[in-house]
Amino acid sequence: MTERPRIGLGKDRHRLVPGRICRLGGVEIPCPVGPDGHSDADAVLHALTDALLGSAGLPDLGTLFPNDDPKWRNQDSARFVTEAVARLAAMKLEVWSIDIAIICDRPRIGPHRDAIRSRIAELLGCDLDRVNLKGKSTEDVADHAEHIDVTAVALVGPA
Ligand code: MG
Repeated sequence: MTERPRIGLGKDRHRLVPGRICRLGGVEIPCPVGPDGHSDADAVLHALTDALLGSAGLPDLGTLFPNDDPKWRNQDSARFVTEAVARLAAMKLEVWSIDIAIICDRPRIGPHRDAIRSRIAELLGCDLDRVNLKGKSTEDVADHAEHIDVTAVALVGPA
């Protein structure tokens, strides 16, 4: 593997619907709506996984962990992150820095920011200060159904 730092970008978006558990960044948040989709639809961990995979030039989440493969169907999304970290480690790469932006009107991310950062650092096996996170509202410009939109950036480098 090269000695240079590498950067990856991940994005994910899920519709927010009533009656779904709202798990974001591996943390269950009390909220009347939650992300809809297969498994837990944790858009934060999906975007993070794609950022990690992208940094290493690996195929994306849906390609590596296809939902129609029984092995990956209904997996806890934390498994995708730990699997991506393992693939990076096999390439002698480790996480240097993560930044994540979450755009939604519900839930408010601020009160859960530290819990999500801690959980992500735990999944990545890195220090807490390498994981940053911020929540933003849609500013009422959402012109589709209520949804959550996540962008994640991962900087990785030689372990
Ligand atoms: Mg997703």
